[in-house]
Amino acid sequence: MDKVKYIFVTGGVTSSLGKGIISASLAKLLQARGYSVTIQKFDPYINLDPGTLNPYEHGECYVTDDGAETDLDLGHYERFLNVPTSQANNVTTGRIYQYVIDQERQGAYLGKTVQVIPHITDEIKRRMQLLGETGQFQIIITEIGGTVGDIESLPYIEAVRQLKWEMGHDDCMVIHLTLVPYLAAAGELKTKPTQHSVKLLLESGIQPDVLVCRTEHSLSDDIRKKIALFCNVNRNAVIESLDVETIYDVPIKMLKEKLDRTVLAKMKLPLKNEPELEHWKDFLWKLKNPKMEVDIGLVGKYVELPDAYKSIIEAFIHAGAQRECKVKLHYIHSESISEESAKYRLGNLDGILVAPGFGDRGIEGKIEAIRYVREHNIPFFGICLGMQCAVIEFARNVLKMKDAHSTEMNAKTKHAVIDMMEEQKKISQKGGTMRLGSYPCNLAKGSKALTAYGKAHITERHRHRYEFNNKFQQEFMDAGMSFTGVNPDTNLVEIIELNKHPYFLAVQYHPELKSTVEAPHPLFVRFIKAAQEHKLAEK
Ligand code: GLN
Repeated sequence: MDKVKYIFVTGGVTSSLGKGIISASLAKLLQARGYSVTIQKFDPYINLDPGTLNPYEHGECYVTDDGAETDLDLGHYERFLNVPTSQANNVTTGRIYQYVIDQERQGAYLGKTVQVIPHITDEIKRRMQLLGETGQFQIIITEIGGTVGDIESLPYIEAVRQLKWEMGHDDCMVIHLTLVPYLAAAGELKTKPTQHSVKLLLESGIQPDVLVCRTEHSLSDDIRKKIALFCNVNRNAVIESLDVETIYDVPIKMLKEKLDRTVLAKMKLPLKNEPELEHWKDFLWKLKNPKMEVDIGLVGKYVELPDAYKSIIEAFIHAGAQRECKVKLHYIHSESISEESAKYRLGNLDGILVAPGFGDRGIEGKIEAIRYVREHNIPFFGICLGMQCAVIEFARNVLKMKDAHSTEMNAKTKHAVIDMMEEQKKISQKGGTMRLGSYPCNLAKGSKALTAYGKAHITERHRHRYEFNNKFQQEFMDAGMSFTGVNPDTNLVEIIELNKHPYFLAVQYHPELKSTVEAPHPLFVRFIKAAQEHKLAEK
C-alpha cells in the first residue's frame, strides 16, 4: 500500500473558529473523491476523556461504538463521513501522560529522566500514527485542540514539527485556521492577527502549508496576496472560509475554494474523480427548501449552551431534511416548567423531546412536561434520562405511586421504578465506568419502533448507570405502557411506548449519536413525521 498521508489542522488567533468543521469538510471532499480518510482529535486537557466534564465546559460528551467518551467534534466527523470513529480517534494529554507514567513505573525508561521532550512528544507521535498503521486509511487528518500559543498545546505542536521533518513535505502537511476580522470603524478586513498567528507557529518551527481564513466578509484578491506574501504560502493556499447558513454548506464552500485540490497537489496525490456529492447536495436542497415547518420543544437543563445537545440538534436537521420539513427547535429550560406553566410553555408545540442528563436539577420540570404531553396527546420523544422521567411520570400519575422516582435522585423511595444497574453497584470510580457504547436491542412486533427501524434487531449507543426496574413491568403493562425494545442478553428495557397515545416513545440509549447526513436516524425521522401529523390535525 502507498504511504499514508498526514494532514494536521491547527488553530490560531481565537478558539471556536470551526477547526472540527473544516477538518470534517476536507475529509468529506477527499472521501467524495474516492480516498479513505479518517479524522482524529488531540485535546490538550489533562482529563483522560471528557466523560466527567460538565456539559457547560466542553458541550456534549460524544460516545463511540466501542464505548469511548469523546469530544463532540467526533460527532461532526461521523455525521459528515458516515464512518464510525473509536477511542483511537480522540486522545487527550491525560491519556498521553498516564501511558508514559505507567511505562515509567514498569521500568521502560530505566536510568533515564522522563521528560516532555522526547518522552511525551514520542508518545504523541506514536498515537498520531496509530490509525495510519491499521491499513484502513490513505489519509489521516489530525485536529489539534486549543489555539497555537497556548502553553498546553506546545508538546503537540512540537510533535507535529518533528513528524513533518521525519516524514517529509509530501507526506505530512499543516493547515492553519485563522481569523481575518472586519473592523467596522475602519471599514476593512485586517490580516495582522493572521500574520502574528503564523509567526507564532514559525517560532515553533512549523511553516503552515495552507491557511484557512475565517471571515465575515469575502477576501479580496489583494488581501489574499498580502496574506500569502507575509505568511510564506502560495496564493492558492490562502483559503477563504466565509460564515455560512449551515455547517453543511462548508464542504461545498471548500470545494469552490479548491481546498481539496490544493491539499492533494501538495501531497502529490492524484485528483481521481470529481467529488461525488449528489446526495449531499440533495440533502442541502431539501434542508433549505422545506415544504412545512414544525415547532419542537427541547426540554433540558443545559439549554443556555446548545453545544450540550449538539448531536440531538444535528439529528433534527438530518431528519427534518429527509421529511422536507423545517424543524424549529425551542429550547425550554426544564426548571421553568411547572404544573401552572406547562400549558403556556408547551401548548403550542408539535412535539417535545426530553433530553438526557444527570442529577436532580430540573427533574420535576421534565416530569411535568411529560405529564402535559401525555395528557394532551402531543408527540413525545424521550432520550435516556428523558425515558427515565417518562417512567417516573407514568408511575406517579397513572399508577398512583406518589413517591415513585429514580434512585439517582431519591435513594430511599419505596417505588424505585428506575434503579441502578446491578453491575454498577460495585463501582466507585466515576470516570469511564457507566454502561457505555454499543449494545444490541430486539424490537417487539407491532411497535412503532419496529416500523420506524424496519428491522427487529438493532444496536445503539449507551451512556447511563440506571435502568427501568423490571420488578414493576407487569403493573406498567397493565396500565398501557409497552416495553418494545429489550436487550436480549440482560432484559434491560431499551424502549417504552404508550399504547393509547398518538406518538409517545422513549429510549434508554442515545439514537442521536448515530444520525448522519447520509443516514438520518429513523426514530428522529419518525418523530418529525408524528409532529407533522399533529400539526396538520390541529389545523
Ligand atoms: N442519569 C441517568 C443515568 O445515569 C441518565 C443518563 C443520561 O441521560 N445519559 O442512568
